[in-house]
Amino acid sequence: MHTIDLRSDTVSEPTPAMRQAMANAVVGDDVYDEDPTVHQLQNDAAAMFGKEAGLFVTSGTQGNLIALLTHCERGTEIITGDKAHTFMYEAGGMSSLGGIMPHIVPVQEDGTLRLDDIKAAIRGNNEHFPRTRLITIENTQGTVGGVPLSVDYTNRVAEIAKSHGLKFHIDGARIFNAAAACGVPVSELTENADSVTFCLSKGLCAPVGSVLVGSRDFIKEARRVRKVLGGGMRQAGVLAAAGLIGLHEMSQRLHEDHANAALLAEGLSEIPGVQVLSQHTNFVFFWLEDNAKLAPKAFEKAMADHHIIMRPYPGHERKYRCVLHYWITRERVEIVLNTMKTVLG
Ligand SMILES: *Cc1c(COP(=O)(O)O)cnc(C)c1O
Repeated sequence: MHTIDLRSDTVSEPTPAMRQAMANAVVGDDVYDEDPTVHQLQNDAAAMFGKEAGLFVTSGTQGNLIALLTHCERGTEIITGDKAHTFMYEAGGMSSLGGIMPHIVPVQEDGTLRLDDIKAAIRGNNEHFPRTRLITIENTQGTVGGVPLSVDYTNRVAEIAKSHGLKFHIDGARIFNAAAACGVPVSELTENADSVTFCLSKGLCAPVGSVLVGSRDFIKEARRVRKVLGGGMRQAGVLAAAGLIGLHEMSQRLHEDHANAALLAEGLSEIPGVQVLSQHTNFVFFWLEDNAKLAPKAFEKAMADHHIIMRPYPGHERKYRCVLHYWITRERVEIVLNTMKTVLG
């Protein structure tokens, strides 16, 4: 029996085509810059994002950290969301390793940072202040529900950065989901960013890895920072081969996950004791009400007995996050809904 794991798209496993490509990958030593498959991944990613160069990195966390360490000197400040992954879930790496201060502004329910909040957070020229170096946004914005940010909004933030001489980084872990939701090529969402990180290992189904893209000079320096962080990999083409399928093929089917998320949300709204909170891109949030037939732990156990894994959002006992991906087909969404009806009915 296949387990239906709705905790995150990070649990998505490589597809049969990826395993095949990994087995056949042409490789070389990437620390010597000699792995043709890594080169292809980096070049193809850069081209798709409208950037000069790319760098294959071990994780999204490493990609964001490398970007910040490359753009910012010690003692400088970045403007980021109070619910951004870089601030919440990257173990404080920017501060411990880069001496960079996060200046947080509130993430709104629509995933944006208010433009006025961003402007107000930019430091003036005063010897008491840290120097602002960079603005970063997250697309899709995960914590508020996988909300996609528009091309227009992104360009407004870029304009603020540019007019103040600041760098602009996009944490685009799920930016292909945003592109699918906005109906635009990903390059339109990244055109005015100095750097972008995106994950191959979430909805794109690759087993490992992210890519950082930017200008040639930026990536040259980023490559050095990656080495400092122990992220220089050798025959990484085995991983890049899967990444290439994620980049070119899996990125084009994410609307299916979004349709399945909508189907799940619609079905959940008819189940007693369940209140759907939101559905954006491949994320569905729901609330297990006090009057539901089962309490959270008993509900999770009953679902697990049917090989379905659901977990509440950290710190919210009754708020559940379901993340759709390639392995959760329409048929499996129907199994989830039928099981929940039985368990909570
Ligand atoms: C997952 C994620 C990351 C980090 O990715 P890892 O590969 O897990 O380190 C960064 N930002 C956002 C928004 C993410 O969702």
